[in-house]
Amino acid sequence: MAYFAVIGLGRFGTTTSRELMHLGNEVLGIDTDPRAIEPLADRLTHTVIADATDERALKELNLQSCDGIVVAIGEDLRASLLCTLNLINMGITSVWVKAGDSSHHAILSKLGVKNIVHPEEEMGIRVAQSLNYPMVNSY
Ligand code: ATP
Repeated sequence: MAYFAVIGLGRFGTTTSRELMHLGNEVLGIDTDPRAIEPLADRLTHTVIADATDERALKELNLQSCDGIVVAIGEDLRASLLCTLNLINMGITSVWVKAGDSSHHAILSKLGVKNIVHPEEEMGIRVAQSLNYPMVNSY
């Protein structure tokens, strides 16, 4: 069993955190919005209302003990980048960040983030490959 944190509990963060729980892990869910936290309060190991752009707030959450952290703030570029920078400054290396667009990706890459996730693009490729599969089979 491993311990993960998911920052930003929109659709992507919620799905990721619930699947991590389903796979038998412990998960800390973090969001600024109590409405995002509320549906997950009984489903995740811990939930906390905190602003991930605030380094002091993050430091209080003992994130160094996590096996991996997912930054699932896609829309707010500033919040995603500040949160990621805070994690890097805290010496956390196992970080997965959702990127909203190519500029977001480029900056994350410059920050040294190895795991940059594009859910829509990656899902689009998977759907196309699934659709293409019968054609491959008929050769
Ligand atoms: P979705 O996964 O639903 O497509 P999205 O990519 O559009 O989400 P957002 O809606 O911008 O991403 O953010 C996802 C979640 O991140 C929201 O619940 C939002 O409240 C939370 N969030 C935004 N800024 C912060 C922050 N500074 N600290 C913690 N959580 C934040």
